[in-house]
Amino acid sequence: MQRDTQIFDLIQLELHRQQHGIELIASENFVSRQVMEAVGSVLTNKYAEGLPNKRYYGGCEVVDKVEQLAIDRLKSLFGCQWANVQPHSGAQANAAVMLGVLKPGDAILGFDLSHGGHLTHGSPVNFSGKLYSPNFYGVEKETGLINYDTVAEIANACQPKLMICGASSYSRDWDYKRLREIADSVGALLLADISHPAGLIAKGKLNNPIPHCHIITTTTHKTLRGPRGGVIMMGQDFPNPMGETNPKGEIKMMSAILDSAVFPGTQGGPLEHVIAAKAVAFGEALSDEFDTYCNQVIANAKALASAMVKRGYSIISGGTDNHMMLIDLRTKSDELTGKLAEKTLEKCEITINKNTVPFETRSPFVTSGIRLGTSAITTRGLKESHMETLANWIDKALTNHQNDDVLLEIKGQVKDFMKDFPLYG
Ligand SMILES: *Cc1c(COP(=O)(O)O)cnc(C)c1O
Repeated sequence: MQRDTQIFDLIQLELHRQQHGIELIASENFVSRQVMEAVGSVLTNKYAEGLPNKRYYGGCEVVDKVEQLAIDRLKSLFGCQWANVQPHSGAQANAAVMLGVLKPGDAILGFDLSHGGHLTHGSPVNFSGKLYSPNFYGVEKETGLINYDTVAEIANACQPKLMICGASSYSRDWDYKRLREIADSVGALLLADISHPAGLIAKGKLNNPIPHCHIITTTTHKTLRGPRGGVIMMGQDFPNPMGETNPKGEIKMMSAILDSAVFPGTQGGPLEHVIAAKAVAFGEALSDEFDTYCNQVIANAKALASAMVKRGYSIISGGTDNHMMLIDLRTKSDELTGKLAEKTLEKCEITINKNTVPFETRSPFVTSGIRLGTSAITTRGLKESHMETLANWIDKALTNHQNDDVLLEIKGQVKDFMKDFPLYG
């Protein structure tokens, strides 16, 4: 067959884009070559519905070992007793959990999307908001922080079956212990979606949800630096409180409920090539090198946050505990929207995303904020000392957004600067 030059030329273009630019999207990262090798491997050819040693297809003796390695490494990385590594993405992991533990119409309580939550935590445009009955908590206007007393009041008022914590843009740590007390007080299950900070949590840099939350979901491609995908974990298995029984009339364990909620509940065949890449990434994350990486991610985020504050930008909650920050542009200028900031920085090959801020006054397509994260630039080797340079370029670009000459000049400087931090060279 003839080589598909159309697609491979585009992939080459994307490689150059990634090599030249400064990647500040908080949910992105750069995987290792061996993670990419696994994703591009012959394992993509294999059907393996079911679980290791319990498959619906023959010829699974190799992929059984692959998937078991992924499970074992994930369990030792997070110190959990049970894991399913098959969810195709973070959204799929959440869909499986909700299918497993909820009935249509059940009340759920999640972190408000416009305050930093995720679509799959009850947004009306998502299955989670259409199939279940969503309720939300947010941050306080004055502090930008979650007030757990308020969460308790809302939980008491809406009596959720499932409480969800975790976010896509909240720069502070979570009090999982307190959330569990709240969940227990209303008889709810507590799900922690640690998609963003998973890598930092695995290395003990942030509070650990495993002992406190009934179920934990995460993506594998954000701070965890693996292939695009999701997983579900439990610190400890337990009998399902919904009262579901097996054909023998015994109460099913939660692990059985969640396994079947993934397959056949919400997915078909697992992506064994991606599961192999997850195993590789979990192996990498178990190393001391990854510990150093996580320390640097946080140090860079703190340095970037204070460099931005120094230039008159306001960060929701005043700073960061993790890898990211949400900047409210309204204190800097009235005309500067998230959309304009994203477009302007794109012209300089600095990639960020516009983001709603708590108590947003503009539409989600325009927004008043931007979200910056340091996972990807830290993988490339940037250190705290480089964050002033980055903040300078961001500020100069945003204050000169109407001046294409300035933006072009910054673009050239960015490209030169990033040559010192080779990627897939
Ligand atoms: C990114 C994210 C997800 C969704 O992950 P996908 O792999 O894009 O489906 C779910 N929850 C949270 C909190 C996230 O940040």
